[in-house]
Amino acid sequence: MPSGKEINGGRRSGTTKKNAFCSFCRKSYRDVGPLVEGPGDVYICGECIELCQSILDQEQRRRGTTTELFEEILTPREIVKQLDQYVIGQSGAKKVLAVAMHNHYKRLQCGWKGTDIEIEKSNILLIGPTGSGKTLLARTLARVLNVPFAIGDATTLTEAGYVGEDVENLLLKLLHAADFDVEAAQRGVLYIDEIDKIGKTSQNVSITRDVSGEGVQQALLKMLEGTVANVPPQGGRKHPEQQYIQLDTSNILFICGGTFVGIEDIIRKRLGKRTIGFGQESGFREEAESAELLPQVVTEDVLEYGLIPELVGRLPVTSALTPLNEDGLVRVLTEPRNALIRQYESLFEMEESELTFTDDALGAIAQRALTKNTGARGLRSIIEEVMLDIMFELPDQPKGSKFLVNEDIIEGREQLFKMPAPKTKSA
Ligand code: ADP
Repeated sequence: MPSGKEINGGRRSGTTKKNAFCSFCRKSYRDVGPLVEGPGDVYICGECIELCQSILDQEQRRRGTTTELFEEILTPREIVKQLDQYVIGQSGAKKVLAVAMHNHYKRLQCGWKGTDIEIEKSNILLIGPTGSGKTLLARTLARVLNVPFAIGDATTLTEAGYVGEDVENLLLKLLHAADFDVEAAQRGVLYIDEIDKIGKTSQNVSITRDVSGEGVQQALLKMLEGTVANVPPQGGRKHPEQQYIQLDTSNILFICGGTFVGIEDIIRKRLGKRTIGFGQESGFREEAESAELLPQVVTEDVLEYGLIPELVGRLPVTSALTPLNEDGLVRVLTEPRNALIRQYESLFEMEESELTFTDDALGAIAQRALTKNTGARGLRSIIEEVMLDIMFELPDQPKGSKFLVNEDIIEGREQLFKMPAPKTKSA
């Protein structure tokens, strides 16, 4: 804080004049509230302080991102290494994303635009079941590269006149994520989920959600390709009186994701019987088959699935994520930097207690998630449910307690907080 004195509602401090006004916006303290006094009859109001702060922040961010972007680009190997800290498995998708991102930033760094060789932008299509890590990968990628990141959903987009959002609202989310720093937003990553619902007319049954509408498709295609979009800063529908923020989308990396339910059948058909090693065995697990087939997905499969060719054309990089099996789910629980189990362990540490899950318990949680068919997404609610009682009791437990969660607790056959705390002072 500056060493100025403050005039507050008529009660002046120091020697400031009675009718002081802000030297920046010229408003009096009666209009703008308290003023801060600087040396020699200079004052500033709260509004101007805030404005100055945001200008400084923006400048700092601009400098920060520019230097970062132009001094060093992570190699694909480095990107994968960082992704590995947060995302389990999916090595194929990680590799594809890392190379695409590396090239994307190289393209930005070298300022290829305008030269003879123009490296085209490579938006990415991620195919994979719910809870396999599509959104997580996109989000982690943005974090690794230190660029703004936002998530949108293709099914909320509708034609003007229908209930829903304009395509520009997706860009608004990115602007929000960039704190309205237009330059930063223009280099951000936008993840658009449920892209498989676009243009697939047979599956669009909702009257209010005309996702297949030509207008939406055209707007989306333009945005993916690169256009200067008019983004309404307040969101909602475009309005003639509203001032728009102009955002150039040509350097935004779009990652589109979809579950593409049933695309395995198309891949299998294309490949014929011979390539599926365990095809004849009865009773093989569905996810094992998906894990085998999905990585072999090619653009033609996506086209046959029903995604409109123009859209496929603007998503030149395709990669598939495979469903996580029990092992994978257990790893999701324990290995990532912010793994759920680790989070609970630290919550217990804060109460000076110790929490341990047995391998059987982890396996049982994973099994339960598998039956839900929502991949790793189901893990959190399962754990929350299991842990509710103990989190309720924990603060009242004696410090230094040790808790062991086994399979019986997961299955509800035992209560965790009734378990004897091994070798701790008796309560
Ligand atoms: P999708 O977008 O494929 O439906 P998400 O990326 O939203 O799935 O995953 C939901 C949650 O499940 C994530 O926030 C993360 O906690 C967990 N998760 C999913 N896949 C993975 C993975 N491969 N590695 C680590 N965590 C994962």
